[in-house]
Amino acid sequence: MGVLLRFRETFTRVFTSPTTELVVIILVLAFFAFSRNLVDLPLCPSAFLVDKPCPLCGTTRSVASIFNGNFLSAWSLNPIGYLVVFLLVRRVIVLCFTDYSFTRHLEGKIINTALLVFFFLFLAVRTVHLLLDHWIFVPV
Ligand SMILES: [Zn+2]
Repeated sequence: MGVLLRFRETFTRVFTSPTTELVVIILVLAFFAFSRNLVDLPLCPSAFLVDKPCPLCGTTRSVASIFNGNFLSAWSLNPIGYLVVFLLVRRVIVLCFTDYSFTRHLEGKIINTALLVFFFLFLAVRTVHLLLDHWIFVPV
């Protein structure tokens, strides 16, 4: 039993360490930066089950478009992709420069509140747009 507890402690320490977090984020960013085509998997339950997009549909494609330099396409796919990229890059900066005071400001209350407001604003606008385009006025 002691061996299992020690293994669990090591496992928890490794998988919750900032280094692991940094490696995972960099791998995700590298995937989006270097892959030309996304895997064609239905990631969204709404799109898969009822064949209608949800407000977060297009976020993955939006992030991929940002990394491929197609900024307008990314915006039209889903503006929330810009928030995702900002959050990932911000986290990498914070994890890399832990000793610098500007990282405290980067993850400060004002910026986090602004990001949350932007997220819900984009989500609300996109929800209304999708409701009008796909759920209420079904295209013929
Ligand atoms: Zn969706």
